[in-house]
Amino acid sequence: MKKILFKLLRYSGLPFIFREFIQKNKVTIILFHDIDKSTTEKTFSYLEKKYNIISLDKYLKAINDNSITLPNKSLIITFDDGHIRNYEMLDVIKNKKIPITIFLCSSIINTNRHFWFKYKHSNIITSKLKRISNKDRLLKLKQADFEQTKEFSSPQALSKEQILEMSKWINFQSHTSFHPCLPTCNDNEALSELGDSKRFLEEEYNFNINTISYPNGDYSERDIKISKKIGYKCGITVDYGFNTLKTDIFRLKRLSVNDTNNIDELSVKASGVWAFLKTRNGKKQTFGLNENI
Ligand SMILES: [Zn+2]
Repeated sequence: MKKILFKLLRYSGLPFIFREFIQKNKVTIILFHDIDKSTTEKTFSYLEKKYNIISLDKYLKAINDNSITLPNKSLIITFDDGHIRNYEMLDVIKNKKIPITIFLCSSIINTNRHFWFKYKHSNIITSKLKRISNKDRLLKLKQADFEQTKEFSSPQALSKEQILEMSKWINFQSHTSFHPCLPTCNDNEALSELGDSKRFLEEEYNFNINTISYPNGDYSERDIKISKKIGYKCGITVDYGFNTLKTDIFRLKRLSVNDTNNIDELSVKASGVWAFLKTRNGKKQTFGLNENI
C-alpha cells in the first residue's frame, strides 16, 4: 500500500517542487542506517543525478569561511550506528567518489556486543525503553538477559580493520559509546557517553572527531552544552528541515530515509516531502529536543 503512495507522491511533482524551490539554496542532510551493496549503487546513482553531494566537512568549512561557496541542492549523506554491512558500500563509494559520514558507537564497534535497540525479547518493547531513565532501561534489558557489554557469537558493528580501511574514503564521527537516548541519561552518564566516544575514536583510530549524531535523534539543552564543552563542533538531529550557513550548528536538521531499495520512496523522503507531510498533520515527532524525561 505504501509503495503505491510513494509512487503517487513521487509523480505528483512534489519532490521536484521541493528540490527546485526549497532544497535549491539549502543544505539537505539525509540519514541511512544499513543498506546492501545493490541498494547503495541504486541509491547513490539516483542522488547523484538529483543533488550535488558534498561532504559534511565542506559544509562545516563553508560556515566559517565565506570564500567557500556551496553548490545548489547540496546534499550530505550520513549513516548512523556503524552497522557491519556498511562495509559492503566501500566499492561503490570508491568508484563513485561519494563523500559520506558514518557515525559510530565507539563501544560496540570491533566487538561482538550488540545494539540494544535491535535486541528482541518478549518482555522488551524498544519504543518504551527509549522513554524511561537510562538506568531503568539498562535494568530492564538485564532482566531480559541483555547487557550492553555482553559478547554475542557474532558482531553487529564494523570491525577496527574495516573502519581503518574505509577511513581513506569515509568520514567517521561519533554516535556516543552505547547509543542511549541522551536526555534519559543523568549528567555523568551523558558526559561519559559523549566524551568517552570522542576520546576513544581519536586515540584508538586517530580520527578528528568534530560531530556528534544524537542517538535516536534525542537531545536536550544539557546534551548540547556538554557536547560544546568537550570539543564537538557540531551536532546532528533528526529534526525535520533543511540547513543554511546560519542554522544552529548543534541542531542541524536531517531527513530520515528508509533503508529500502525503493527509488519512489527515496525520492519522496530525500526531498523532504514525506517528513513535511508527517509533521503537518498535528502529530508530533516522537524524538528530538526533549527536556521532560
Ligand atoms: Zn542510531
